[in-house]
Amino acid sequence: MAKADPASRSRSRKGFEAKSLQTDTQNVTRRAKARTGPGKPPKGYNPISPERVAEILKRLNDLYPEVTCALTHQSAWELLVATILSAQSTDVNVNRVTPELFRKYPSVEAFAALSPEQLEPDVRSTGFFRNKSKSVVGAAKKVVADFGGEVPEDMDKLLTLPGVARKTANVVLGTWFKKAEGVVVDTHVHRISRRLELTKENDPQKIEQDLMKIIPRERWILFSHQIIWHGRKLCFARKPNCVECPLENICHAGDKTWSTVEMHKGAIG
Ligand code: SF4
Repeated sequence: MAKADPASRSRSRKGFEAKSLQTDTQNVTRRAKARTGPGKPPKGYNPISPERVAEILKRLNDLYPEVTCALTHQSAWELLVATILSAQSTDVNVNRVTPELFRKYPSVEAFAALSPEQLEPDVRSTGFFRNKSKSVVGAAKKVVADFGGEVPEDMDKLLTLPGVARKTANVVLGTWFKKAEGVVVDTHVHRISRRLELTKENDPQKIEQDLMKIIPRERWILFSHQIIWHGRKLCFARKPNCVECPLENICHAGDKTWSTVEMHKGAIG
């Protein structure tokens, strides 16, 4: 059998060494990931212990002491309309549309006199404008017909209005009427409550029930505002800014971008 020449022996040795180096590196990376990646919470860990919840609330208070709803409004009706328009849109986007909208139709009666099609061009830029127009005009007609032109201050009555579910009703009751009937669960509250392990649920109604059990009633309104601001400022859906977050060392979210504590697999926004 012909012997391989020294140059080719050296080439194949180098190839082998390079391959095993690559495999070693991959193994080390895999081991490192297994050690540092999200895992199960330790035995006995209770993410909803009163002490932990109180600490989260305290830090939110320090971070966002006087926050409120970012939707521009001058009345319960305007807040109701703005909240309906904010679905799948941003508050900034809604605030661009509503000043002109409320100038053009200055009362609930003015909205009630419209057909949904007439309203569509005015709310088009907020997205899903056909459904939103139907909801706003439908709600206006019902407020005028059933509630004497006044937005009701009652959860059950609010829920009879077209386009109004618990989230919208909670916004109006909490922000305008200062009534804590529930916790607003929007996309930010949904995501961050899960990251902070305050709930394991995915359904907004079940998340709200969980939050109502562990958060003192007098904090329901402010907590929602604070979490919504936290979602806008730091705890983004993609790439949360964990390195800047004052909740970092008590947050075990599995999708943190930076962590000084263990991360928990199930705590994903
Ligand atoms: S540490 Fe990160 S994931 Fe946890 S609350 Fe703060 S920003 Fe959100």
